[in-house]
Amino acid sequence: MSQAKAELQWALIGASDIAKTRMIKAINMQPDSRVTAVFSSNAAHGKAYAAETGIPKVYDTLPALLEDPQIDVVYISTTNDRHRDQAFAAIAAGKHILCEKPLALSVEDARQMVKRGESANLVFGTNHHLRNAVTHRTLRKLVKEGAIGKPLAARVFHAVYLPPRLQGWRLTRPEAGGGVILDITVHDSDTLRFVLGLEVEDVIARSTSQGLAQGGTEDAVMGAMYFGEGVLAQFHDAFTVKHASTGLEIHGTEGSLLAVDVMTQDPIGSVMLRRENEQSQVKLDPPEDLYAHAVRHFNQAVRTGSQPFATGEDGVRSLAVALAALESCKSGCRAPVLYA
Ligand code: NDP
Repeated sequence: MSQAKAELQWALIGASDIAKTRMIKAINMQPDSRVTAVFSSNAAHGKAYAAETGIPKVYDTLPALLEDPQIDVVYISTTNDRHRDQAFAAIAAGKHILCEKPLALSVEDARQMVKRGESANLVFGTNHHLRNAVTHRTLRKLVKEGAIGKPLAARVFHAVYLPPRLQGWRLTRPEAGGGVILDITVHDSDTLRFVLGLEVEDVIARSTSQGLAQGGTEDAVMGAMYFGEGVLAQFHDAFTVKHASTGLEIHGTEGSLLAVDVMTQDPIGSVMLRRENEQSQVKLDPPEDLYAHAVRHFNQAVRTGSQPFATGEDGVRSLAVALAALESCKSGCRAPVLYA
């Protein structure tokens, strides 16, 4: 695409926890990119954050950051309600965008974001980290190669305990896009789409508050997604479960794949293949930091016109599934996934 600079300059839109704990390192560890600026709506927070993370430039208005001609790429990781307008502004300023999930609070808004990025000939990616894991990439490959025959069912175990430092807007502010469905179910849907190579047709789900979520948000959900052709997936997502392990199972006509400790931010976990009377541990390629893998592919997309590892369209689709889950919880009925 447009840039041939030796070093792509990334800016953070949002002085967030995820940028501090994962993304700054993932960007800076690439030989061809560096975080050089951050915008925070809270000037004092932005200043302290920049000092702590070693980011040289700090802006307290978004237009000021976007006017900086040195910046090539922005990473948006504010609360979910702010992604849309920040993306629109960044696209208007000609910056490539890696946006956090969920892309927006409606499919229509998310589609607009992706469409405007495409029209401006900019790279637009969604930060779905899980599909970057060597475990999930291996599961996808094995399913595609027919290692388990025709897939019939999947089970996702993604019930975790929300760390106290993150117990803020996710639990109390539905208008900011809080709640476990927009936070975690959205990742499940992307991972299942990626591993199975199928699209979700409808969702039935039941959510509740188990004591952490307030003000109408949910902190636990169980449900089922239907992919057509008889393929079902069940999911359990929560902010309230302290002692469970995470996992993903795919069951097919000829075998099963059992992946343990894989719905996580770390490059860990194992994959077991069961067929007939055999059970074997699948040999995995060396693990790579999930976020570094995503950034590496994003930088490559900026330089060569290839696709980010999770595209904008992937973000629109995962959001559509999560919104169907929310709708089902509200109505008590099965909800079709509305992709358009
Ligand atoms: P945070 O709560 O850490 O940050 C969200 C925003 O809150 C920041 O952008 C900042 O606003 C404001 N904020 C945070 N801390 C302070 C503070 N101490 N003082 C003042 N303002 C503060 O959010 P997360 O990092 O948990 O999540 C951000 C986004 O990333 C969400 O969209 C979430 O869904 C996504 N996410 C994705 C993950 C993944 O693995 N893909 C994992 C975790 C989150 P301002 O922008 O104005 O500075």
